[in-house]
Amino acid sequence: MRNLIVLIACWCTAHVLSVAHAADSAYASPSVSRFKSNIESIRPMSPMQVGGGGSSRSGSKAEDKAGDKKSGGKPRPLTEREKEEQAEAELQARIAEKLATMKAQQAARAAAAAKARKEADARAKALALMPPPRANGTHWGYEGEIGPANWHKINSDWIKCSTGNRQSPIDIRDGMKVELEQIVFDYHPSAFNVQDNGHTVQVTMGGGNFITVGNRAYELVQFHFHRPSEERINGKGYEMVVHLVHKDGEGRYAVLALLLERGKPQPAIQTVWNNLPLEKGDVSAPAIVLDPNDLLPQRRDYFTYMGSLTTPPCTENVLWLVMKEPVQASPAQMALFSRLYPLNSRPIQPTSGRMIKESM
Ligand SMILES: [Zn+2]
Repeated sequence: MRNLIVLIACWCTAHVLSVAHAADSAYASPSVSRFKSNIESIRPMSPMQVGGGGSSRSGSKAEDKAGDKKSGGKPRPLTEREKEEQAEAELQARIAEKLATMKAQQAARAAAAAKARKEADARAKALALMPPPRANGTHWGYEGEIGPANWHKINSDWIKCSTGNRQSPIDIRDGMKVELEQIVFDYHPSAFNVQDNGHTVQVTMGGGNFITVGNRAYELVQFHFHRPSEERINGKGYEMVVHLVHKDGEGRYAVLALLLERGKPQPAIQTVWNNLPLEKGDVSAPAIVLDPNDLLPQRRDYFTYMGSLTTPPCTENVLWLVMKEPVQASPAQMALFSRLYPLNSRPIQPTSGRMIKESM
């Protein structure tokens, strides 16, 4: 009987361990009730069930011997001891069988889990290899979800807004003072049109207005406004800035920046304001001319560095020319623009060791 108890105890321990192990697996759902039913199914038959008679173990040896003598040639009835041994052997066999089944089930579960893991890994790898979906949005602004920090996410072609290392605007400081060549202005009174394009007020110029710098001629395409100024000089910002965008024959940009400060009214700016269309997106094409020379300051000293467009797609390799002397505009002129665009400036970008030159 003691052997029987030890055997059951062993089996229980093995079973509990196997159930606990199975619980670790993502594919097993063991329950206490299953565990109990397993025990029921292999519980050994009681001595009563095996051979009837409820006699105790005491004195069984004497009875065995007596039984041997009585048996003669006929198959003699089993002694209590033999019955117990037989029950033990049966129990052992059933335990072995059960353990083998459990082992096989465990192996199958482990194999299924390994297969599932492998498949999940393969799926994750395939996903990682897939290029990210292309974005092709066009709606951008200066605040929130569509603001400068997210421009590169709106359209895949605007990636330079995030990854570029020659971006504009910058805080212009520590310039190298050199004898910079004069910018040659070849501007004339020209036809123009005005549009509030949803990002700024933009004036598109008729052809024939050029600047020459570094032996290269750039034609004025358009000018527009930002509030506050995008660029800073030694950390100082200005109330507004005008950007005159030029392009050469090979499509290279040169942007001339005119910083605006409060002062007397600016006649060219007044001409633009006078011709603002009533609706956003509409274009007004007045039957008058505008002379871009009227925008320029008296002194022609400037800072220069290589940067980018300050709006998407943030194209780099743009030659920046920032005039040192600010241009004046009246508070009323400034106020008018601020009603349309209280804030339309890209934040300062890292200089990343770029060379800045300035007129002596
Ligand atoms: Zn601009």
